[in-house]
Amino acid sequence: MEFTYRDQEWSYDEVEAMVYDSVLDSTECPKCGSTQRVEPDASNYTCHDCGKGKVHSPLIVLGLM
Ligand SMILES: [Zn+2]
Repeated sequence: MEFTYRDQEWSYDEVEAMVYDSVLDSTECPKCGSTQRVEPDASNYTCHDCGKGKVHSPLIVLGLM
């Protein structure tokens, strides 16, 4: 089972681990490609690196939160 968002993908095991984490790696910023540590319910957080792109919790974009 694969989970994908844009050009990112996560294995089932990675997603399962995220569900139990209190902080996890966000989706990649569409502007600069960096990821940040975010809370599981993070949605539309401004990228800390470029201040332009938005990042989200993978659990949000995968519809698991
Ligand atoms: Zn960025």
